[in-house]
Amino acid sequence: METLGEKQRRFVRLAGKLIEFAYANGFELTFGDAYRSPEQAKANAASGVGIANSLHCERLAIDLNLFKLGQYLSDSAAYKPLGDYWKTLGDDCAWGGDFKRPDGNHFSIRHGGRA
Ligand SMILES: [Zn+2]
Repeated sequence: METLGEKQRRFVRLAGKLIEFAYANGFELTFGDAYRSPEQAKANAASGVGIANSLHCERLAIDLNLFKLGQYLSDSAAYKPLGDYWKTLGDDCAWGGDFKRPDGNHFSIRHGGRA
């Protein structure tokens, strides 16, 4: 059974692959949130963005900001090539673009029934 620490470290390695995939396909990225404190997650939930028990608090999620030809792409659908690739990296790899309220820049490893 993989420990949380092992899962966190696998996540970072897979995030590296995702970043390389993006650049190999003509995209560029900046980092959004990776680790998020429980206090920040609570504040986000209170203001209607994100959830209090976010996987960011467990170091199992990252938000990446996508660019192509210098243009920032904010639409969730623009992240689909990355989301599709991310899901090939493991059965437990989840992409926020599949959420009920799409969150295309969010990439995570499922944990405790959350994504
Ligand atoms: Zn996120």
